[in-house]
Amino acid sequence: MIIVPEKEIGALMTREAAFDAVEKVFASMAKKDAYNFPVIREAIGHADALYGFKSGFDRKALNLGLKSGGYWPGNEARGLTNHQSTVFLFNADTGQCRAVVGGNLLTALRTAAASSVSIRHLARKDAKVLGMIGAGHQSVFQMRAAVEQRSFEKVIGWNYHPEMLSRLEDCAGELGLPFEAVDLDQLGSEADVIISITSSFDPILMDAQVTAGTHIACMGTDTKGKQEVDAALIARATLFTDEVAQSISIGECQHAIAAGLISESDIAELGAVINGDHPGRSSEDEITLFDGTGVGLQDLAVASAAVDLAIAKGAATEVEF
Ligand code: NAD
Repeated sequence: MIIVPEKEIGALMTREAAFDAVEKVFASMAKKDAYNFPVIREAIGHADALYGFKSGFDRKALNLGLKSGGYWPGNEARGLTNHQSTVFLFNADTGQCRAVVGGNLLTALRTAAASSVSIRHLARKDAKVLGMIGAGHQSVFQMRAAVEQRSFEKVIGWNYHPEMLSRLEDCAGELGLPFEAVDLDQLGSEADVIISITSSFDPILMDAQVTAGTHIACMGTDTKGKQEVDAALIARATLFTDEVAQSISIGECQHAIAAGLISESDIAELGAVINGDHPGRSSEDEITLFDGTGVGLQDLAVASAAVDLAIAKGAATEVEF
């Protein structure tokens, strides 16, 4: 069995490898070669923790396993990250444990890769302004992955807690891009691509604020009750997701579904666009929206890529198990 500890992931894993792994697994999901098992998430009644696991099987890549972890709100006071996760991969032929891989950094990389894949396949080719809603831990991973997809000339941003916006400004600076803090009207009217990555439970971006031709990646909503954009905007946009079942239950589309504004059949899998089975964006004026809910198969795909890189670079620790 191979162990890739959390502290090794930063030196091993690249954005390119994460992008490639996520793009491939989305394609396999749409071809029904890969499927996610039902998600388990429980308040365990200890340390205020939320614990669960996401699992699945990719028959094509032979990735079988699960990501186990959750949220421990008291961790920060102990000098630890509140979100904790570990990926376990199993040999699909024998059921033996193949690898244990630190999942914290991988989660940020695979989430950023998902919106980046959506930008590659759905955003207008001439997109110049990237709009960021959210300035938390995930936001900078999102920005770094997004700017690799189009020739962005500027980043604009809004956050519920404005004091956190310096994080976006610093990241844009590192990427050689000017940054401007804006209100939501300006963000909606200027941005060609918008990424939302917040823990909001109320709509932030309203339908009337968004202009034609925008691509929006809604990445924050991964739980029942969370919401980042107006349900009317969901109804107006052409909708894509990682997995339809999650989109309508825990993703951004849950509210428009509940309000009867859209039906399940209005939402396409991004993998179908990757496979060429869905045309994707059909005009320069269309608003495309990717509801990135986060699936276990993404975790397995990037963990497997990290194991391959660890083996290739001689950095894998092998133990008898
Ligand atoms: P974080 O705690 O570091 O940052 C939270 C962000 O949400 C900040 O920008 C904060 O200002 C904002 N926020 C907090 N309360 C708000 C409110 N009431 N209204 C509007 N905005 C508010 O979190 P993070 O690690 O950056 O994660 C952000 C979100 O992304 C979380 O909801 C997390 O669950 C989600 N997430 C999704 C995936 C996925 O695959 N889709 C993966 C990882 C994280």
